[in-house]
Amino acid sequence: MSLSKRLSQILFPIMIMSVMAGCGGDKQNGEAEGTQEPAATASAHQAHWSYEGETSPEHWAELDELFLACSTGKTQSPINILQENVKDDKSLSPIVVKYSPSPVAMINNGHTIQVNLKNQDNRIIIEGKTYTLQQFHFHLPSEHEVDGKHADMELHLVHKNEEGRLAVLSVLITKGTENAELNKLWSVLPNEESEEEVTVDGDFDMNKLLPADLHSFRYQGSLTTPPCTEGVQWIVLDNPVQWSGEQINQFGAIFPHDNRPVQELGSREVESDE
Ligand SMILES: [Zn+2]
Repeated sequence: MSLSKRLSQILFPIMIMSVMAGCGGDKQNGEAEGTQEPAATASAHQAHWSYEGETSPEHWAELDELFLACSTGKTQSPINILQENVKDDKSLSPIVVKYSPSPVAMINNGHTIQVNLKNQDNRIIIEGKTYTLQQFHFHLPSEHEVDGKHADMELHLVHKNEEGRLAVLSVLITKGTENAELNKLWSVLPNEESEEEVTVDGDFDMNKLLPADLHSFRYQGSLTTPPCTEGVQWIVLDNPVQWSGEQINQFGAIFPHDNRPVQELGSREVESDE
């Protein structure tokens, strides 16, 4: 067995644990947050990371040994989706989304605005497997590129199944008409980083953040934030949604950019459920 393979076998469980903790050791940061597990509280302090300067994405793996996958991983996210290389797979069924208006709370974790679900009632079904929505958050500009182009923003809805596997549903956002539902969140947008959640009045309907057509690109990737853990099922919706320029600017005023650059596709294939 090669050293790197042995290392990855040792590190993988550690990385899974560290997914549950964020920058600063609290449990509110990172792609996979809201995945409430005992490991979250047991996890050690993690290195500070960012999108700028000495702690920017090209340095993530140097900041903490738990972030090693950020540079050595072979199935990292995000990626550039080249549509001419996408393989149509007629055996894939369209994803099924079962979201309903739900109580949520919002947090500025220093990396993004994250909205935590206060129930476990929202699910997606991918190829017969059910994943439950834990949290959603935003990136500016988009992390995924399509044919080399960024969208203005990207929404990540992070789900987990019973086995602890993650599936992220990604929605690209372009400037256009206002999204009225979003104002429930944006009217109480927390400008400053804090460990305190902001209460959001009433229920929030995640369906209103999705396009009508749920046709998607699928591939195997990773968290796009440290520790860059792999084994994440990505579902990137083909059709973008629109937000107003003001709604995009409100986020951009807090996070001028919070996207990891695209990673090598390597030997992976991107499939489409068309
Ligand atoms: Zn994300």
